[in-house]
Amino acid sequence: MNDNDLPLEPRQFAIMGVRPDLLAGLRDLGFETPTPVQEQVIPALLRGRRDMFGLAQTGTGKTAAFGVPLIQLADPESEVVQGLVLCPTRELCVQVCKDIRALARHVRGLRCVAVYGGSSIGDQIRSLKSGAQIVVATPGRLLDLLKRKAVNLRELQTLVLDEAEEMLNMGFREAIDDVVPQTPDTKQTLLFSATMSREVKAIASNYMTDPLSITVGTANAAAENVSHEYYVVHSSDRYLALKRLADVFPQIYCIIFCRTRVETQEVADKLIQDGYDAEALHGEMPQSQRTIVMDKFRRRNLQMLVATDVAARGLDVNDLSHVINYNLPDDNSVYTHRAGRTGRAGKTGCSVTIVHMRERHRIVDLERRLKVKFEHKPVPTGREICKRQLLNLIDHVQRVTVDHDQIDPFWESLSEKLVDLDRETLIKRFASVQLNRFLDYYKNAPDLNVPPPAHRKDRHGSRDERNNKDRKGGYRGRSSGFSCLHLNVGKDDGITPLRIIGTINRGTGNRDIRIGRISVQGRKTIFETDSRFIKEVSAVFEGSNINGKRVKVRPGLSPDRDGGPPQRRRNHEMRPAAKANSKGGPFRKNQQNKKRSSGRKAKGARA
Ligand code: AMP
Repeated sequence: MNDNDLPLEPRQFAIMGVRPDLLAGLRDLGFETPTPVQEQVIPALLRGRRDMFGLAQTGTGKTAAFGVPLIQLADPESEVVQGLVLCPTRELCVQVCKDIRALARHVRGLRCVAVYGGSSIGDQIRSLKSGAQIVVATPGRLLDLLKRKAVNLRELQTLVLDEAEEMLNMGFREAIDDVVPQTPDTKQTLLFSATMSREVKAIASNYMTDPLSITVGTANAAAENVSHEYYVVHSSDRYLALKRLADVFPQIYCIIFCRTRVETQEVADKLIQDGYDAEALHGEMPQSQRTIVMDKFRRRNLQMLVATDVAARGLDVNDLSHVINYNLPDDNSVYTHRAGRTGRAGKTGCSVTIVHMRERHRIVDLERRLKVKFEHKPVPTGREICKRQLLNLIDHVQRVTVDHDQIDPFWESLSEKLVDLDRETLIKRFASVQLNRFLDYYKNAPDLNVPPPAHRKDRHGSRDERNNKDRKGGYRGRSSGFSCLHLNVGKDDGITPLRIIGTINRGTGNRDIRIGRISVQGRKTIFETDSRFIKEVSAVFEGSNINGKRVKVRPGLSPDRDGGPPQRRRNHEMRPAAKANSKGGPFRKNQQNKKRSSGRKAKGARA
């Protein structure tokens, strides 16, 4: 029989020697052709047990690359653990176990169990007792289970160290060193890592004998089908630049990576407050809430996920349009991981980094080490954003399905009302309904780009000139057009800058009110707000009750002249109140967000 006569699809996996019951699983998953890492790893592992060192980024299909042989070589009749996969995070554990179960769906008797910290150890012990041939574990929890003799690795045949560099980054070196001696010398060890560091090499030489080396792409390189772009702004404009990116890509579906949990929550809160479809994902959130957010994101019911690196591990999403590095990670290998979240499973993607002037050298360093080119892009101007929004609207209009049964009965009254409008007026009016908010908002928007140092004076004048220009524009809380209000409540009463913004937004219902610098001190708060709306803003706070105190508002000096602590400039461009959702319908996100974040807000007294 020649290859073309093979009865089972997917044929290329069959040619590699994959068993029919596993082929059925691959077919169910829609894996028709093997990815490059699968092409190299599966036949090599099926041929014979030997150690293997695989350099492969996330998204290359490495789970199935080791999963298929792991399942095929396991004996489902036996109840002892034969395959062990060690992963850095519980999210990845859950994902890998899910993938293995899906691959083994038609393999009778094969059981895979995931064990990880932060979940009931009792439940996991019970699952292990029912027998599992494959265990996927985080090193810490596995050690606990070994100490309690709830798991026995004496007959282990294959040990997989998945995302080894991440396990080392997360401090699991000792735990790995404690686990490995409890496994037999005869087992084979497979190590997968996205990057090749000294520590990874050390693990490989300690635990592997003459390993077969497999590299997919370039060692320490970011995925090939990902483009890398960066934007240079003043560090105080980082958030504004992020919003412009979200506005210029109306269909964006992205993860925004932040460095810390606090930054993650702050950025997500600000985006939500400004009407964007965003949520936070970080380790301080309860697991149940994280699961809800991840599911929502996976189902594309959420456009922007603001996440820490650790929390986003194991989130298996293939069609992200962008990864945004709100801040660069300290470690270049973490950048590789982040970029590898997009451009997966053969798709193209874009990794975007927002840097401030003094971080440019980081880009040069990344280019050199990852051997990829980063393209410097200008932050989109207000005009470009409005144009993109308009084109997006036109796109929706062209694609929308008209339900004649529903709309035709209204046709007569519709056409009667619009009879006086010619075609051009009609089109302009419909476009304005959607776009006026953007047009107004971006009318005097300043250029956020920071020119290269050598050109700064020529193109934009001196720093003073630039500041004056901003003041004239009066656009971003740089004093002109702003008045200052003092409140007799502060940090000690639970006030935060976000709460001030939220109170103004909710209390006035007017999203055109600009807010400048905010200084929250122990028992007082000073903030700049739009002079035109000073009465409305004062009224929102005056006489309200916060922390049992009656709030008093008085006009005063600006935050920096009032002798308070050093000021942090907060640039609160407020977003147009409504945004078309990804499906194109008009959609009041703010209403939803109010509900969504009400739990958080309810904690403090309302102004
Ligand atoms: P991984 O690197 O294992 O996390 O896989 C990345 C993504 O690629 C996952 O969503 C897999 O479901 C998908 N994938 C893996 N192998 C294949 C394949 N042969 N064909 C299509 N998709 C695949």
